[in-house]
Amino acid sequence: MSAEIAPLRLMAVHAHPDDESSKGAATMARYASEGVDVLVVTCTGGERGSILNPKMDRPDILENMGEVRRLEMERAREILGVRQRFLGFVDSGLPEDENEPLPEGCFALQSLEVASAPLVAAVREFRPHVILTYDDNGGYPHPDHIMTNRVSVEAFDAAGDPDRYPEAGEPWQPLKLYYQMGFSKNKFEALHEAMTSRGMGSPYADWISRWEDRPEKWDVTTRVPCADFFETRDRALLAHATQVDPDGFWFVCPIEIQMEVWPTEDFHLARALVDTTVPEDDLFAGVHAEAPTACS
Ligand SMILES: [Zn+2]
Repeated sequence: MSAEIAPLRLMAVHAHPDDESSKGAATMARYASEGVDVLVVTCTGGERGSILNPKMDRPDILENMGEVRRLEMERAREILGVRQRFLGFVDSGLPEDENEPLPEGCFALQSLEVASAPLVAAVREFRPHVILTYDDNGGYPHPDHIMTNRVSVEAFDAAGDPDRYPEAGEPWQPLKLYYQMGFSKNKFEALHEAMTSRGMGSPYADWISRWEDRPEKWDVTTRVPCADFFETRDRALLAHATQVDPDGFWFVCPIEIQMEVWPTEDFHLARALVDTTVPEDDLFAGVHAEAPTACS
């Protein structure tokens, strides 16, 4: 990684507290350990998340979900070694079916302009070179995840334009925008095969068999080696104790197998304003070329 621009800055935009620890977390921890300034921006407070860990399913926790999730986020942030801020929107919840109306005032019901303004302001203040977000399907189709993609694309395109969002600070143009591509069928098939070939039970068989066999809409352009930070990723995810069952699905595949079989986190380069050649193994590839040279 280049050190010609010091410090490099990476912004990851997420929908809820805990998303940062399950999507791109090892990548963020790796860059932070190398001196990159990393900021997680969390659009909502996760107020409508249910308790997904049976051991935390207690009335006193359910009553204080907003505060509990704030404290969990603070712990995860510390573990990853990054900075974090909330944008203050209210969680839309995951509707049971697509006809169920979303709750009034929630993040996903905001106009694009209203929903994007605080992120544009955050981009202009933090001045990231690279932004990570979800693809246009949200990675999975939660309304807040889809909205997170829309505001991220809007902020990437508008933050450098002085005529747009003029109240939101001095213009700053980020150089690269990536979509998180962590949930690929290929990856889970590889982990499944590695586990079964070692005589272990695999939790993925059913899941993989239900996965539609169609080409991915976005190709993986960038694989960031980050296996040394998988353990950090898992600790950060476990810090979101109400959202993750430590005995559940996510922790069944041993880290050693993951490190061997799939030692990267994967991304799609959605926008690049610098010269770079794909495939890449560094989110900042090409960014150093934009640095002003010291001699003339
Ligand atoms: Zn989420």
